[in-house]
Amino acid sequence: MNEPSITIRASSWAGLFDCAYRWEGIHLLKMKNTVGLRAALGTAIHAGSAVFDQARISGDTVTVNDAAGVLVDKLRDPENEYDPNKDDLTKPEAESIGITLLSKYCLEVSPNYNFVAVEMETKPMDIDCGGGIIVQLTGTMDRARIKKSTNGIGIADLKSGSSAVQKGAAVTKGHAAQVGTYELLFEHTTGEPITSEAEIIGLNTKGKAVIATGFISNAKKVMTGDQDNPGLIEFAADMFRSGRFYPNPKSLLCSEKYCPRWKTCHFKGD
Ligand code: SF4
Repeated sequence: MNEPSITIRASSWAGLFDCAYRWEGIHLLKMKNTVGLRAALGTAIHAGSAVFDQARISGDTVTVNDAAGVLVDKLRDPENEYDPNKDDLTKPEAESIGITLLSKYCLEVSPNYNFVAVEMETKPMDIDCGGGIIVQLTGTMDRARIKKSTNGIGIADLKSGSSAVQKGAAVTKGHAAQVGTYELLFEHTTGEPITSEAEIIGLNTKGKAVIATGFISNAKKVMTGDQDNPGLIEFAADMFRSGRFYPNPKSLLCSEKYCPRWKTCHFKGD
């Protein structure tokens, strides 16, 4: 195959199917948006949980306190930049919520899983979009784990947010493209089939510190399609070939807070 025309991080791929116009702004036009403290808190929780789970796999000793230390360091890291005016949350509150959730995750959730990889590095995967355009997916499966159970290998993806858990279950709606991409990349990287359904582990960062799970079946099919229906890869190929990235003003991220294209986008309406 020829050299890729565009290289994109695998973890960003799912955003293309949310609002492609926003995705183009961020990933192709390099428009920047500063996140709020709650998103920075999410990054910090994920950093702490990843160190804890990686240690479980390697057989190293990492305590909940050690993981909490990683969380606090990440939250205070100037590179984990956020706009203090974007959330009604103070830093001490964020630390307290983060440590409570992370402790719960380490003590009550993580031990239920046999993880075999954390944020696995993937082998670059080329998607031929036609017309000489080749998109290459690279990078790690950010925030995801590979789990092994009696059903075989599957993806477990951690999602944090103010409404990551609703009615006692992790919100799975809108996550199939992400986990489907990870399933494809896992199979492409290792040559092993995914046989277990994907799981979202939701961590609520607002209100009660709740962690719950939800399942997604056939996520890969959402990407690849079948003999009767096209998959999202086909839609993505159309967009890359044509250079037309469709707006979605109904996206949950269609707001000044989350979209760097907001000010100039005339599709958003008022
Ligand atoms: S403002 Fe809304 S429609 Fe426009 S790019 Fe952003 S998310 Fe998409």
